[in-house]
Amino acid sequence: MRQTTITSFFNNQKVPTKKIVIKQNIIVEINKVKVIADDITKLKVDAIVNAAKKSLLGGGGVDGAIHRAAGLELRKECRTLNGCKTGEAKITKSYNIETVKAIIHTVGPIVYDCVTEENREKLYDCYKNSLITAVDNRLRSIAFPSISTGIYGYPKYDAAIIATQAVKDFLDDEKQSKKIDEVIFVVFGEEDEEIYKELIPNVFS
Ligand code: ADP
Repeated sequence: MRQTTITSFFNNQKVPTKKIVIKQNIIVEINKVKVIADDITKLKVDAIVNAAKKSLLGGGGVDGAIHRAAGLELRKECRTLNGCKTGEAKITKSYNIETVKAIIHTVGPIVYDCVTEENREKLYDCYKNSLITAVDNRLRSIAFPSISTGIYGYPKYDAAIIATQAVKDFLDDEKQSKKIDEVIFVVFGEEDEEIYKELIPNVFS
């Protein structure tokens, strides 16, 4: 008897239409710069950056997450791009990642024994060239993962220093800065969260 009542109660209810709620876990925010703890594929932003492999054909880590979320069409477009050199950046559509207008693919340096000057330069170039690609394509907001700090072995703190410096140099250039509204550092794990929480106020305020 009780069960029937419950069933009929639900049957008479109007089911509310489902809304997609985009939650952004903002850790720090200073002017145009934000640190957000989230899966990069869940953000609402003009461009997300992929820490890609030279082949651009997908891999593990953030690369795998982006390819899975975007779908097979992304791989198809990537096949036409002839790969990407370390430090350079290439752009594609975002396919099934509907909250994003484009994906910028950049290839970070691989660190073997210790960080070399070349590693530093190439990592800096990843951020700089991704920002240039965004501006060239009229994309005004951009989200970066911590490039090279996963499978490619770049120490997280050292990488964050380069990442924040590259973004700061770019935003300090008035001509470029006018064309960017928002730069997001996406932290995926507590270690990066702590590092960026400490660094961002020092570098950007
Ligand atoms: P790389 O090959 O350049 O080292 P990885 O994908 O292995 O790239 O790691 C780069 C960073 O991306 C790491 O800090 C990792 O924690 C982070 N990461 C992994 N998956 C995601 C994701 N879905 N969203 C944001 N960051 C992610």
